[in-house]
Amino acid sequence: MNPVYAALPTTIFETMSALARETGAINLGQGFPDAPGPDDVRRVAAEALVDGYNQYPPMAGLPDLRQAIADHYRDHQGLDLDWQSEVIVTSGATEAIAAGILALVAPGDEVVLFQPLYDAYVPMVRRAGGIPHMVDLDPRDWSLDPAALDAAFNERTRLVVINNPINPSGTMLGGDVLAMIAERCIRFDAYALCDEVWEHVRFGRDHVPMIALPGMRERTVKIGSAGKIFALTGWKVGWMIAAPTLARQIAKAHQFLTFTTAPNLQTAVAHGLRKPPEWFETMRADFARSRERLVRGLESAGYRVLPSEATWFVSVDLPASGIALDDVTFAERMAREGGVVTIPVSAFYEERHVRHIVRLCYCKDDATLDAAIERLGAMRQRLTATK
Ligand code: GLN
Repeated sequence: MNPVYAALPTTIFETMSALARETGAINLGQGFPDAPGPDDVRRVAAEALVDGYNQYPPMAGLPDLRQAIADHYRDHQGLDLDWQSEVIVTSGATEAIAAGILALVAPGDEVVLFQPLYDAYVPMVRRAGGIPHMVDLDPRDWSLDPAALDAAFNERTRLVVINNPINPSGTMLGGDVLAMIAERCIRFDAYALCDEVWEHVRFGRDHVPMIALPGMRERTVKIGSAGKIFALTGWKVGWMIAAPTLARQIAKAHQFLTFTTAPNLQTAVAHGLRKPPEWFETMRADFARSRERLVRGLESAGYRVLPSEATWFVSVDLPASGIALDDVTFAERMAREGGVVTIPVSAFYEERHVRHIVRLCYCKDDATLDAAIERLGAMRQRLTATK
């Protein structure tokens, strides 16, 4: 058995969703929307399944989808991509992350990552033989200290893994911070693996793709996900974008992970990516409404909600909300006694765990959010009354 996996717990998302199934609690843990996803996109998938071609698509993805991805990024982010040599379709962003890490990290290579971080990154870095170097974002505002960055980079650094916008914090790294990271990548000749699956789910600033920064075009792998853009998380359709030499290397890892992805879903995602710009505005406006509902509700119930500007998540600070429990204990009791599943943010840490924040997913219908807010409020009252 490989020791990397032997030592690992089951991912927090599966654990907490299983707890929701077991207890019947409202699930604001694992990030997935209540809504069924865009009707037209699902219909194209259904028609392509029944009437279309259902054998292996090309390893890099259906040409139609790869063209749609390149066109989409030209229209939305001003990127100039060659769909034939720079776009590879994967079975979800997690596969793209795996392929990127397996292809770019050799045993002994150092990899810089930022905490809190999505729990798939570090095990994959270790599996590839890489040595992770964790840089902490300051939990007060999730800012990045340039000195911490300097302490992490050295001549053995081969890769930096960046998630922007960031899950779980729901914050974004601005162009200035990205430039700071880019400067180190260039100085130490490292690649950047950029998990940008939340690029469309943001409520203020525009998204800045790392690949567009000076000097980064040839050393960045940009990862995207239809699951996040179209709120169809079960589809597991993602992609990676990279300059041709880099794309050829990561394709070699991809070809032996999943090789390809269901063709009907690829056809439907191509259709979705060609939706007019207004669709993306409306999608954001709808999410913004639900987000506001949960934030206002939590605040009226006495919770301190941390500032954020992207993703399907908001976080609460437990001590600032008057709750003297660590995040895991709170999440466990909130699920079993309070009837709402959340995610303890310490699960997004590899070391120096921050244990006072829990994450909640807001993309649920109004009635579900209102019921959850009521239960969270009642639990907070009980926990603060017994202090
Ligand atoms: N990205 C999702 C989240 O953060 C979870 C993905 C998963 O469950 N594998 O909630």
